[in-house]
Amino acid sequence: MENRESAYRGIRKRIDAAMAEREQHGGESRPVRLVAVSKRQPVEAIRALAELGQRDFGENYLQEALDKQEALGDLPLTWHFIGPIQSNKTRLIAAHFDWVHSVDRVKLVRRLGEQRDPARGPLNVLIQVNIDDEASKSGASPDEVPAIAAACGEHPTLRLRGLMCIPRPGNTEAFSQLAELNAGLPEPLPDLSMGMSGDFEVAIAEGATIVRVGTALFGPRD
Ligand SMILES: *Cc1c(COP(=O)(O)O)cnc(C)c1O
Repeated sequence: MENRESAYRGIRKRIDAAMAEREQHGGESRPVRLVAVSKRQPVEAIRALAELGQRDFGENYLQEALDKQEALGDLPLTWHFIGPIQSNKTRLIAAHFDWVHSVDRVKLVRRLGEQRDPARGPLNVLIQVNIDDEASKSGASPDEVPAIAAACGEHPTLRLRGLMCIPRPGNTEAFSQLAELNAGLPEPLPDLSMGMSGDFEVAIAEGATIVRVGTALFGPRD
């Protein structure tokens, strides 16, 4: 377990260093939110990280996430849905998550907006953009982003926070492209969710405000 603690402290240190360097170069000064990606990791690993102070956890598979949330219901965690969304699953996502990073079509916005219980407070939404991977089926194309953003504005139960991308491995240019896309919107959004275990420092340099880190925190997945 000492390993887990040193991995966690190490990642936090690297995030802090990348943030400090970005600020020194005149970049974004807002803090970076670390989402610990716990897909295919056991509940005990999440609990151990929560004991070290980690609050934000990201999950890709709905049923797996719901089971874990139930087992960890005694902890004050913030849950992020980061996987592909089937439209028949939006009701459960709206009911059980605080953030959703993978909204990529207007239909999902409508369903999440209608299904979110206002009493739970707004659901934080990020639009997933297919910035570089023609072959991938998930993510909106850059020119679809304004319409999806406008649809979010019609639902007081949603709070549009920003853009998210999952570039092809090694394509770190995608991060500056996502930042440019955001800067070019009629109303640029506050958050960019980009960067994973292998590239979160580059993503922070390019303006990430949310990084999603799995393997580097938890080790290999089952
Ligand atoms: C699995 C996953 C991650 C974490 O990837 P690592 O390389 O393990 O850090 C981040 N974002 C998304 C959308 C993922 O599916």
